Amino acid sequence: MTTESYVEKPKTLSELREGIASGRLKATGLATSYYERIEQVNPALNVYLSLTKNRAFAQAARVDAAAAKGDPLGPLAGIPVGIKDVLVMRGAPATAGSKILKGYHPPYDATVVAKLEAAGATLLGKLNCDEFAMGSSNENSAYGPVRNPVDTDRVPGGSSGGSAAAVAANIAVATLGTDTGGSIRQPASFCGVVGVLPTYGRVSRYGLIAFASSLDRVGPFAANVRDAATLLSVIAGHDPCDATSSPAPVADYAAESDKGVEGLRIGVPAEYFGEGLDPEVRDRIETGIESLKKAGCTVKPVSLPHTRYAIPTYYLVATAEASANLARFDGVRFGYRSPSSATLSDMYSHSRDEGFGAEVKRRIMLGTYALSAGYYDAYYLKAQKVRRLLADDFLRTFADVDAIVTPTAPTPAFKLGEKTGNPLAMYLADIYTVTASLAGICGVTVPCGATKAGLPVGMQILAAHLNEATAFRVARAVEAAQS
Ligand code: GLN
Repeated sequence: MTTESYVEKPKTLSELREGIASGRLKATGLATSYYERIEQVNPALNVYLSLTKNRAFAQAARVDAAAAKGDPLGPLAGIPVGIKDVLVMRGAPATAGSKILKGYHPPYDATVVAKLEAAGATLLGKLNCDEFAMGSSNENSAYGPVRNPVDTDRVPGGSSGGSAAAVAANIAVATLGTDTGGSIRQPASFCGVVGVLPTYGRVSRYGLIAFASSLDRVGPFAANVRDAATLLSVIAGHDPCDATSSPAPVADYAAESDKGVEGLRIGVPAEYFGEGLDPEVRDRIETGIESLKKAGCTVKPVSLPHTRYAIPTYYLVATAEASANLARFDGVRFGYRSPSSATLSDMYSHSRDEGFGAEVKRRIMLGTYALSAGYYDAYYLKAQKVRRLLADDFLRTFADVDAIVTPTAPTPAFKLGEKTGNPLAMYLADIYTVTASLAGICGVTVPCGATKAGLPVGMQILAAHLNEATAFRVARAVEAAQS
């Protein structure tokens, strides 16, 4: 490793919250020290796109006043949190990593933003990401790449690269990201932090700038499993503003995660340990599996035979939905408008041509093609049928096991620029994450050792729909075996 490391572990939520409740720590003081650290390290890492200081300090002052009076405090009282810039915050710039949204200041809060604040969190600012969350390296941001705090020559993963790097570098205690095909799990794995893919519908998407609506999910990042679980309990639940959100009751996931893993049945799918898997990653995951056995789990091989169709299926469904969702960026309603157009249709096409980056344009074209008359049945419809087969693989397997464990990504963090010339190689690296996205099931990625060069390896733990509690329990056991 050639470069300076910016890694620093934040204090745990319970330590910080205890400090604030007892008056030893002030929420305003914590906000000040986090903004100081952001000033020091953000120029090197490019994690924050904008800061929301006024709102943060107003909130922190409210928390300090409540603590001084002995009023009850929320579960995230005074905790500094960062928000991926595809989620809207009233009055703050929302770019989605794109030039086309430059200058857009949304007039409302995403439901998850409002919930975090109602729980006492201090919202520090908006985090860099791939443009419209399309990418696996954060190199598709119109505002420059994020650098991995572990090794700044390397990518932090994507698309929620800023959300993962912020926690790894301790410029937020926790963050929110989004995951459509792996964008929480893969960057968490690359940066050595915990990331959660909640079940589809578990967390409201009201106020999320949509990429692919049948796949998009919002979830937390944190430095340890328990903290990530606490955040999920805060943001999960039904939202009347999001018809796709589930009415199922929300568990106390942190308490659930304390329950241990004795007797849990763990499946290991052969399809995730084949060609293309880095030998060091394989070795660390196998060691992690051994530690689950020692903790009292039974481990058995399982098969998810349609895995090999997952990449083409995902890249058809996701691009088709993206082409529809991104039609709204027309130079009229939001953000950027091309200054020089003689006609209305020129204005549309120039605004989109100048406003969107290369990867977004590639996906709009792929998706439009897949949806067009004459091709719809051959591509989009077929992909939806394969999607069902992929989901059935998981449903069948979860009749026999409580959780499935896999590597989160086939390699550790790669170098900046290593895959930018080859979009297909970039897509193929999503192989272990897109399957759960297509199936709608939940999962957690947890640090599981590091390579000889010191690069973090993540283990992905998948569980059935709405069974986040089990994924957290297994993740806690893997985490405990690391220390
Ligand atoms: N890397 C995948 C893609 O580029 C996933 C992105 C995401 O989950 N937002 O589509």
